[in-house]
Amino acid sequence: MLTEPQIQRYARQVLLRDVGEKGQEALGAVRVELTLGGTVAGAAAAYLRSGGTEVHLPATPAGPWALTPAILESAPSAVLQVVAAPRAPEPAGVVVGSDAGARVLWSVAGDACRGCLREVTKGLGPPELPEAASVQLGSLLAFLVQRRALGLAAALEGLAISPIGELSTLATPACAHRPPSVPESVLAELLRHLSAALPEEGCAVLLGREDQVRLVPMENAQARHHARDPDVFPRSARTAFTLDPRAWLELLREADRAGERVVAIAHSHPDGGAGFSAEDRRWAAPDGQPLLPGVAHLVIAFRAGRPWSARWALWAEGDFLETVCPLPAT
Ligand SMILES: [Zn+2]
Ligand SMILES: [Zn+2]
Repeated sequence: MLTEPQIQRYARQVLLRDVGEKGQEALGAVRVELTLGGTVAGAAAAYLRSGGTEVHLPATPAGPWALTPAILESAPSAVLQVVAAPRAPEPAGVVVGSDAGARVLWSVAGDACRGCLREVTKGLGPPELPEAASVQLGSLLAFLVQRRALGLAAALEGLAISPIGELSTLATPACAHRPPSVPESVLAELLRHLSAALPEEGCAVLLGREDQVRLVPMENAQARHHARDPDVFPRSARTAFTLDPRAWLELLREADRAGERVVAIAHSHPDGGAGFSAEDRRWAAPDGQPLLPGVAHLVIAFRAGRPWSARWALWAEGDFLETVCPLPAT
């Protein structure tokens, strides 16, 4: 419920169809952390505060952008971060950058794909802020924040202002960073195979055609390598895995014949976290480039002999991004 002073102050925007009383409450439920300075921040903060949203700024703006505090019924429950490229907001907010003289704004939802975010912001430099363009940029920034707060924004939405001040919306790429969909029965089969390998790391490959994914259990060749040449392979199979090269080639031939492709490589951490470790990263992208482009990695962590957590690691623009993989009940 809005209070009387809130209704008086925000009367005009409460009348708007996309705002209303619920919308006004939504504008007050976010706090904006502006890490930019200058007129852009001053203008954005003034628009946001007069719209009923609390803003934190690095410095108090002066002059025409002196502050009117927002009237809040209760403390804001969510934070939207506004950052200059190449930083990204955590988890939701707006990135402000520049690209070939144009100013670019990307609004980011908490559940937006971080791979897509990286893709659209990779060429952005810090925003160049000539004074004349700052008010326009600040007001658009406030607009994007309000759309996000009101729940009107897509997961990722971008605007560009050309060097002569023309506004355009930016296309969002089709996402190629989501983990593959693996049927529960295949995950259950994977868990059984990895459990059988305990206390050593187990590994397997997921092969797929269209959306049919099947499991190919693999042997962890690390034990043999370690026994044969502990200098070159100092880690035992309890803390490392290797695919046998011959078995791997045979698998690729088989996949080719069947018209399948390698969807993912899975391995277990018998007594550890589900994070994609530094070793895993080195193995999967030895020279900073993925060894197997387009192939996902899946790490299943065990505790006390039971699977407890799993994460996908997917390559996106220079690094592996991790997302949780829900496990079937066992
Ligand atoms: Zn994506
Ligand atoms: Zn690992």
